[in-house]
Amino acid sequence: MRVLLIEDDNAIAEPLAEGLGRYGFVIDRVGTGAAALAAPVPDMVLLDLGLPDMDGIDVCRTLRTRSRAPIIMITARGDETDRVVGLELGADDYLSKPFGIRELVARMRAVTRRAHLTDTTAHDMTPGDGVRPVRSAPQRVGDLVIDRRTRKVHVAGEHVALAPKEFALLALLCEDPGAVYSRQHILDTVWDPNYFGPTKTLDVHIAALRRKLGSPAWIETVRGVGFRLTAPGAGGEDHR
Ligand code: CA
Repeated sequence: MRVLLIEDDNAIAEPLAEGLGRYGFVIDRVGTGAAALAAPVPDMVLLDLGLPDMDGIDVCRTLRTRSRAPIIMITARGDETDRVVGLELGADDYLSKPFGIRELVARMRAVTRRAHLTDTTAHDMTPGDGVRPVRSAPQRVGDLVIDRRTRKVHVAGEHVALAPKEFALLALLCEDPGAVYSRQHILDTVWDPNYFGPTKTLDVHIAALRRKLGSPAWIETVRGVGFRLTAPGAGGEDHR
């Protein structure tokens, strides 16, 4: 995967490029917005919002008009307005400095998974119905069917009524059935990166979801880490 790293600060860019290289990413490094816009279209973009020649938000906007490659913004702490504007302009996620390479790689993998899910549904479109928006086809995991477009969930053909957060939580776990999602990642994604409420809230929602899905086996607790979705009766083998 070719990653365009747009960062003017060498003290950050160098170790970042080296670290990501160890994870197998091919890094193209640029230090200005102009160079970023002149670079070949990559598979993913890491965009520092504080650039010397252009507003990073404008770089984000222009890149988005050209390609659907995931964009992760890198921001200084406190740039909340920029983060919100960037997300509205089509950035996929953001990370506040300072951050660890493992956290960045986890975010990169997550946005890649989401992009692939969207791509798959885009390919489902047949020629001629281009006026219809790209939509997500319902996803099936064992007996469970989740339709992100209509926000409806069925288990063994029975409709399951979920509260908005319960639906968001289930939709997240369904992005990669069998994969473990950490408590922090779930709180950041389903709630808010600045969620400071009791983490007990998450357990309450997990309990409600298990009850509504009809079996606690749907959501496995991975002690000390988080949760993962498993279709009951799948026996822990091939979840993918
Ligand atoms: Ca900078």
